[in-house]
Amino acid sequence: MGDLSLYFSRREFKCHCNDPDCRGKKVTPSFVLLRGLDTLRKLAGAPITVNRGISCEKHNKSLKPIPGAKNSRHLPWYADAADIVIKGKSVREMAELALQVAVFRYGGIGIYKNRIHVDTRNYIARWPKACWQTQTEFKTLREMEKTL
Ligand SMILES: [Zn+2]
Repeated sequence: MGDLSLYFSRREFKCHCNDPDCRGKKVTPSFVLLRGLDTLRKLAGAPITVNRGISCEKHNKSLKPIPGAKNSRHLPWYADAADIVIKGKSVREMAELALQVAVFRYGGIGIYKNRIHVDTRNYIARWPKACWQTQTEFKTLREMEKTL
């Protein structure tokens, strides 16, 4: 039981920077995102770890090895993105599950080596391009593995 939704709590979404004045530490994640994550958690039947919730502008810029996108949905004024790991699932399985949740299917889904990104931006965004045949279908596992 979380303090923001059925499964999630505020502390899981806080910016990871060390700045005590960080704005990303005080912002509440979007409730559409939280509702989507609750649905995903139920669907997966497995715990979800949030690796990155909200990132303040400073922290977003300083991310290594690649800085966050300038218009990242993790930024406090959107606060509707999360990088997540679903316990016991491959990234392909995680992305497959995310596609079954409407707010993510019609929003952003990104695939990384050990985690996925989901957001509720209200238009479809998919990355990396080399992993996706269409907006809802993946390329072959081999092609995906070559990319990630
Ligand atoms: Zn911060």
